[in-house]
Amino acid sequence: MNRIERFEQSMIAIAAIRNYSLYPLGKTGRSWMWLIHPLRIHNYKPNLLVISGFHGDESGGPWAILNFIKHMTIPAANFSFVPVIFPRAFNIGKKLYPRPNCGFLPDQNGKTDNQSIQSIILKQHGNFLYLLGSNGMLDLHECSNSKGYYLYSFGDIQTKQRMIQAGKKLFNLEPTGTPIYEGQHHILNGDVSEYRDGSIEHFFDFLHCPSVIASEVPKIGTTLHQRIRGHEVLINTFAQSRIETF
Ligand SMILES: [Zn+2]
Repeated sequence: MNRIERFEQSMIAIAAIRNYSLYPLGKTGRSWMWLIHPLRIHNYKPNLLVISGFHGDESGGPWAILNFIKHMTIPAANFSFVPVIFPRAFNIGKKLYPRPNCGFLPDQNGKTDNQSIQSIILKQHGNFLYLLGSNGMLDLHECSNSKGYYLYSFGDIQTKQRMIQAGKKLFNLEPTGTPIYEGQHHILNGDVSEYRDGSIEHFFDFLHCPSVIASEVPKIGTTLHQRIRGHEVLINTFAQSRIETF
């Protein structure tokens, strides 16, 4: 059994135990991109979407989502998840091209990147996914060439601040002034705020999602175990903050 098959086997078992349904969003190669969603959506709870696995060398996020569902102690939100956006990349544990998290919209310079198959599938379900994340969307990443934690963030300031505080307790913070995107932008206090780059975060902000965060957990100097635990704390922090503002 290969890595993605093992992951799917765990996902199916955990979803069944915790009363979640699996919905196939689309197929790339031999693998499906799965949505995990609650059997019932309650009107009085916020809708929160947590996604991960755009990049194959960032396996902590997908496993953290399964752990989060398994141990979930927050009944006050309707949680949905897309744990592995690029299954083939997850399976081989490497970043694959074309870049998957781009081309959702024209970027702030008016340029639209080529659409990846992953972005086409996610956009086909854009309205549906937006409903499931209409009160907040969190995208879990790991940064292979950094020693520090940081965010890309849109919307609610309280949630941004709480996510930075939570990450600071777990990891070093990436220093202010660190350039990203070949120096087109810089990190400020652990955050790259309102950066419209055509990513799915930009897309959710464009759809008026009130809080959108992509968290970047450092891979240098951390173990997979630490990163999985860290992602779990970040999901909990995000959820608590969004529930309080609902
Ligand atoms: Zn990533």
